[in-house]
Amino acid sequence: MSDPFRLDGKVALVTGANTGIGQAIALAMAGAGAEVIAAGRSSLDETLDLIAGKGLKARPLALALDDPVKAAGTLAGLGRLDVLVNNAGIIRRADAVDFTEADWDAVIDVNLKAVFFLAQAFARAAFAREGGGAIINIASLLSFQGGIRVPSYTAAKHGVAGLTKLLANEWAAKGINVNAIAPGYIATNNTEALRADPDRNRAILERIPAGRWGEARDIADTAVFLASPAAQYIHGTIIPVDGGWLAR
Ligand code: NAP
Repeated sequence: MSDPFRLDGKVALVTGANTGIGQAIALAMAGAGAEVIAAGRSSLDETLDLIAGKGLKARPLALALDDPVKAAGTLAGLGRLDVLVNNAGIIRRADAVDFTEADWDAVIDVNLKAVFFLAQAFARAAFAREGGGAIINIASLLSFQGGIRVPSYTAAKHGVAGLTKLLANEWAAKGINVNAIAPGYIATNNTEALRADPDRNRAILERIPAGRWGEARDIADTAVFLASPAAQYIHGTIIPVDGGWLAR
C-alpha cells in the first residue's frame, strides 16, 4: 500500500520559494516525492541547490505577484498542477493613523488578491482536465487576532482565512482541498525586526508555550501533510502551527 503521507507523482507549485517558509515548503515537498515548481521574483538558485543537494529535482519559475491577475495567467500556462501553495507575503508596519494607501495596496495585492487569482487559475485548470488537487494558503495568527500597526496585513490575513473557507465550500465536492496554515512566530526575514527588538522578542517568547520561535520546517511539514492523501477529508481549515500561542 502506498504511503498516504507521500506526494509521489504530484506537481507542486510554491510561491515565494526563494527564502523562508516557502523555501522550506519547497524542500519538504520535494523530499516527500513531489515534482516542485519553485516560484519567486528573486533568484531561486539557493532553493534549487538545497533540493539538488538532497538528490531531488525542482524547476524554477519567475513569478512576481505585484500584478496578481497577470501572475495567474502565468500559472494557467504551466500544465498539470496538483498542489498550489500560496506562501508569498509581505508586511508593512505603521500606526493606523499614518498608514498610507501604498502600504495598504501593496500588501492586499500580494497577500490577498494574488491568493485568490492564483487559486482561481489553479481550479480552472484542474476542472478543465476533470482533476482535483490541494491548495494551501499561508495565513497568520493575524487571521484570528488584530495585531498592532499592521492594518493591511491583518485585513489581508483575515481575508485569507475567509477565502479558504469560501473556496473549500465551492470546491470540496469537485476534488480540490483548500486549507490554510496559520504560522505562529517563525524565524524568517519577515520577523527580523521583531527578533531584533529585545523587548518585543522577550514578550513574544514569554507568551509561546513551546518557549521558542518556530522554524520554517515546522510549517513545511504541515504543508506536506495538507497536500497529501492523508488529508483528503480536510477542507476549509486554518491550522495554527504556533507553539501553542493561540491556546494562551
Ligand atoms: P519572507 O522570508 O519575508 O518571505 C516572503 C516571500 O514572499 C519571499 O519569497 C518574497 O520574495 C515573497 N514575495 C514578497 N512579495 C512578493 C511579490 N510581490 N511577488 C512575488 N513574491 C513576493 O517571509 P516568510 O516568513 O517566509 O513568509 C512567508 C509567508 O508566511 C507569508 O505569507 C507571511 O505572511 C506568512 N507568515 C509568516 C510568519 C512568520 O513568523 N515568519 C508568521 C505568520 C505568517 P523576495 O525574497 O523576493 O522578497
